[in-house]
Amino acid sequence: MRKRETKIHLAAAQAPLFACPVCGQPLQVTAGSLVCVNGHVRDFSHKGTLNFLNQQVATEYTTPMLAARRRMLNAGLFTPFLAAMAAKLPKHQRLLDVGCGEGTPTAYLAEAGQQTAVGFDISSPAINLAGGLAAPVLFAVADLAHLPFVNDAFDTVTDIFSPGNYREFRRVLRPDGQLLKIIPRAGYLREIREGLYSGTAKAVYNNEPVLKRFLAAFPDASQETITYDFPLAPTQFGDLMAMTPLTWQAPADQRDQMLAAPPISIHIDVDLLTVSHLVK
Ligand SMILES: [Zn+2]
Repeated sequence: MRKRETKIHLAAAQAPLFACPVCGQPLQVTAGSLVCVNGHVRDFSHKGTLNFLNQQVATEYTTPMLAARRRMLNAGLFTPFLAAMAAKLPKHQRLLDVGCGEGTPTAYLAEAGQQTAVGFDISSPAINLAGGLAAPVLFAVADLAHLPFVNDAFDTVTDIFSPGNYREFRRVLRPDGQLLKIIPRAGYLREIREGLYSGTAKAVYNNEPVLKRFLAAFPDASQETITYDFPLAPTQFGDLMAMTPLTWQAPADQRDQMLAAPPISIHIDVDLLTVSHLVK
């Protein structure tokens, strides 16, 4: 079966899952499109992806940056914390991955956790790349502030380094559902932070404001720190520099210096925040 048909079948089997971005009514699969009772239509692309934005939004993520990110993720840069997340997923449930980027983590979680998964991002180049993955995941361009899903649609919401809209997360999670969020800690990409911004305010990062905001919204959340050093082949460092927004505003000479003498490993230091049983 062609990719587009596979995704249409997947969406039909899960309906009602998506909500109309114009009127909020549930969308049903009709003749290969998503249609609401008011006749608003969203079509599947040839890759089977969806677009729920009424207006396109330009982001700083270009296809070469996203491709560099995919190479690093395929090399296993995030695998230890993705495995910790996958271990928390009850099998055969419905997962939403927020701000999924080029989709490699979503595909990993869907396969390792045997989930029916949806990934969305505001970047259409990211979703275009995600649409090329073989995993049975529905990928969509959508806005964090207006999630195109019906209420109580998901058993789990995952959020890896993405901004959170906790009101919307709460709305699309079922009662007793779970929320898994990854936030960076002070040591995340330490070598790059120190190499590019030594002596400036950007050399240090503190996740306290993000953590506080999360715990204010979800006081019962638990917090688990995951830390490791990922070994880097010399040729991988350019990809690492390209994939992270941390480097984009760095002075050119500092970047060149780092690229000329890359570190042998990169420090990964994150918190996994878990809400196990959402009270609605
Ligand atoms: Zn509608």
